[in-house]
Amino acid sequence: MDHCIFCKIVRGEIPSQKIYEDDEILGFNDINPQAEVHFMLIPKKHIASLAEAKAEDAGVIGRMMVLSGRLASEQGSPGGYRTVVNTGRIGRQDVMHLHVHVIGGREPLGRMLPKA
Ligand code: AMP
Ligand code: ZN
Repeated sequence: MDHCIFCKIVRGEIPSQKIYEDDEILGFNDINPQAEVHFMLIPKKHIASLAEAKAEDAGVIGRMMVLSGRLASEQGSPGGYRTVVNTGRIGRQDVMHLHVHVIGGREPLGRMLPKA
């Protein structure tokens, strides 16, 4: 995907603060962190969103989830964290390359959604 910003990060065309890399997955800090710890895990393969993931993508998506705990601890959130996958227009997804936000720090986060 020539113009996808996260594909450009995967190819090294845009700089990022990498925290993790393997053959299928890249982890890097969010440029606009919402908490003390806020990084992103993405598949190196372009998958536009969770809604567009195929059965063959289940492995890499599962691996991102399994990795999140160790990386969150390493990055300064050993007592837990929040994973967020914004999807599509309703989910307010801005970057159309599947990404798992991992958000945390030393203090508890706010509520996930405002209480009705
Ligand atoms: P979303 O609204 O879930 O699509 O989130 C997109 C996220 O990507 C936002 O939290 C942005 O701060 C983050 N972001 C956008 N561009 C970059 C970049 N070049 N490096 C790191 N994070 C980025
Ligand atoms: Zn992409």
